[in-house]
Amino acid sequence: MTSILNADLHCHSVVSDGTLTPEALAQRAKANGVELWALTDHDEVGGQQRAAAAAKAEGMQYLTGVEISITFAGETVHIVGLGFDAQDTRIQQGLLDTRGGRGKRAMEMAEGLAKVGIPNAYEGALKFVGNPELISRTHFARFLVESGVCSDTPEVFRRFLTEGKPGYVPHRWASLKDAVTWITQAQGIAVIAHPGRYKFTANEEYALFSEFKAHGGQAVEVITGSHTPAEYIEYAAVAKEFGLAASRGSDFHSPDESHTDLGALPYLPGDLTPVWELLVHRMQ
Ligand code: AMP
Ligand code: MN
Ligand code: MN
Ligand code: MN
Repeated sequence: MTSILNADLHCHSVVSDGTLTPEALAQRAKANGVELWALTDHDEVGGQQRAAAAAKAEGMQYLTGVEISITFAGETVHIVGLGFDAQDTRIQQGLLDTRGGRGKRAMEMAEGLAKVGIPNAYEGALKFVGNPELISRTHFARFLVESGVCSDTPEVFRRFLTEGKPGYVPHRWASLKDAVTWITQAQGIAVIAHPGRYKFTANEEYALFSEFKAHGGQAVEVITGSHTPAEYIEYAAVAKEFGLAASRGSDFHSPDESHTDLGALPYLPGDLTPVWELLVHRMQ
């Protein structure tokens, strides 16, 4: 398959921290010309059957998807899984364990916010949550915008929800090895999500890519809504250096918040192996 394909292999629904249902996302993707789609909710595959059915109804090809939170070198990193068997009990259990700490973390975040004069943030964030197991920083951000404390979600993250700020609670997620193993054991492909977003030194980034490969990871996001055009070029080179296939995805969360819409991205550079070439047999 060609790199000239409108594939969008990264987005979020109400099952995690998006604001649209899987069906509404499928309709929007189709309207934007997406030909191959994957819904990649954080740490959860509960929307996969609905997404696959909606893709079929819209006449798009579909790959199962997930975005797993891991901790590597003290930073949160996201690993996308594509084309795996969502019924595999090992990945389901791994994701259940990964989600497990979110409730307690959310209450600690609310305590931190209360100390700086923002009461009841847990209850406030919960109003925006579609799936209580998946309460995330995004839901707190929506509450702080709604209550007028900040004017948009980037401001909330800057002032309250990133390291050193009052609502930030460090959290230990899954390991790189576990996430890659869950995905590959279930016949999927593991993808490093938006590598341009991590604040790693060159050595740490090299370690991430080499350990990812050693554990069986096979792809990296090159064209993503989280990258600048300079980062498209930078990570295209990294994909080649490490012999990884390349993925493409908007990371769309909400019509009101996301600057990159579903399918609205440049095509993958023609000299890279598109990740979907490795997944033709897994398409639905
Ligand atoms: P969590 O998994 O609870 O740590 O929340 C992470 C989510 O917060 C990401 O998946 C993004 O949707 C969102 N996020 C992280 N950083 C930012 C930011 N600087 N601006 C807006 N949203 C962000
Ligand atoms: Mn998110
Ligand atoms: Mn992410
Ligand atoms: Mn994402």
